[in-house]
Amino acid sequence: MAFVITSECITERAADCVEVCPVDCITLGKDQFLIDPNTCIDCGACEVVCPVEAIYFEEEVPEGERASILKAKTYFGIQ
Ligand code: SF4
Repeated sequence: MAFVITSECITERAADCVEVCPVDCITLGKDQFLIDPNTCIDCGACEVVCPVEAIYFEEEVPEGERASILKAKTYFGIQ
């Protein structure tokens, strides 16, 4: 389980999350920032600083944004 950045990030890419992540697990992918699920420690620091509320705990990602979970896992070579 990890936090997940959803599609709101594609147009925003503010990078506030990158600044606060204590384990440096947020990377700029092709079109948005992505969280490495292997490294995320579920601290929630990124979620509260995102200006467009694009970040959710994996189990709480809205139905229409579930593809973001697979997007991050694929990017980081999981599954
Ligand atoms: Fe980093 Fe914490 Fe966000 Fe995980 S929940 S990406 S460890 S700031």
